[in-house]
Amino acid sequence: MELQTIKQHLTPFYLYDTELLKKTLSIAKKEADHYKYIVHYAMKANSNDRIMELIHSMGFGIDSVSGNEIKRALQIGFKASDITFAGVGKTDDEIKLGIEKEVFSFNVESIPELEIINTMAIRLGKIASIALRINPNIDANTHSYITTGTEENKFGINIWEMDEIFELLPKFIGVKLIGLHFHIGSQITDMNVFKNLCLRVNQIQEIFIANQIIVENINVGGGLGINYHEPDLEPIADFKSYFAVFKRFLDLRPNQKLHFELGRSLVAPCGNLISKVLYIKKGAAKQFAIIDASMTDLLRPALYQSFHYINALYNVSAKTEKYDVVGPVCESTDIFRKAVDLPKLQRGDYIAIRSVGAYGQVMSSNYNLRDKAGEIYVD
Ligand SMILES: *Cc1c(COP(=O)(O)O)cnc(C)c1O
Repeated sequence: MELQTIKQHLTPFYLYDTELLKKTLSIAKKEADHYKYIVHYAMKANSNDRIMELIHSMGFGIDSVSGNEIKRALQIGFKASDITFAGVGKTDDEIKLGIEKEVFSFNVESIPELEIINTMAIRLGKIASIALRINPNIDANTHSYITTGTEENKFGINIWEMDEIFELLPKFIGVKLIGLHFHIGSQITDMNVFKNLCLRVNQIQEIFIANQIIVENINVGGGLGINYHEPDLEPIADFKSYFAVFKRFLDLRPNQKLHFELGRSLVAPCGNLISKVLYIKKGAAKQFAIIDASMTDLLRPALYQSFHYINALYNVSAKTEKYDVVGPVCESTDIFRKAVDLPKLQRGDYIAIRSVGAYGQVMSSNYNLRDKAGEIYVD
């Protein structure tokens, strides 16, 4: 993008590369179609209309985690029959909405939730389709703040609760069990973790089959990671290897369908946060590049110490220096990264914080009464 064009926009702003997004989506779709796998886009990663419309046009379904997400997805044109609905704390209104719209499945995270969905469906004269979100107790080998599949966290139903479920299900006439659901965490790049998930799912299927239950759908959630360290070297996640692991290790029963819920891997690489250097401040042993973007625009580094590649734009200085790249907000965690090698910066220089298309703009806030960053799309 030309410097002239960048200059026309108020910084900081999100810049989305729609060409890269389209390429990513078409590769993911092609690799999934190869095995007839069904991919639901986890829209909490980025719910901008333009991005959702593109994803819709490419034939993906939706994974939602709130009533408002369901509403937005329906507005964009997704069919309710392609929407899964997850979340440990679904409210009565959200459950009612999901039942009335007839979403593809409620991914049920606890026995009390199962009871409420059953009661509400009966009251509405409907039968709600449900998948049990089972906690497979797999360590995703990722940051503890984004691990979800171990017994120590709040997500999913634990294996030792299955007997109670088997007892309750025949009595619950307001729900129909259509699937088993798993989601073990995010930013997983070690394919062995997915292999372990497959082996665990096979064991859990055996438990269900021993109880004369064969579900129509297996949903293995999302979590495929991207290369945050070298965004230009590997701009598109390795969807081919990812789906191949499931093909190889997951035992599907005849006619069983396999579903995925990918968020980050589909949209993270296409987003950049463009910001301007406000001040270069010298410390005793280091120097700070204070930029006009902050944790209110991109929370991930402050929230879970995430790494983002940072590069300078239009700066041709041959000399590089180390900078702690920080935002202006009065919080010690308002730091994008420490000791970043960048060409010698000066006030007014532009920098790009890379791979922020997922869990970036959606988490922005007005803390400090700061304006929210806008967005532009380029091909
Ligand atoms: C967040 C989430 C996803 C998507 O995870 P990614 O790591 O972004 O692929 C999928 N399923 C559920 C239930 C989620 O909560």
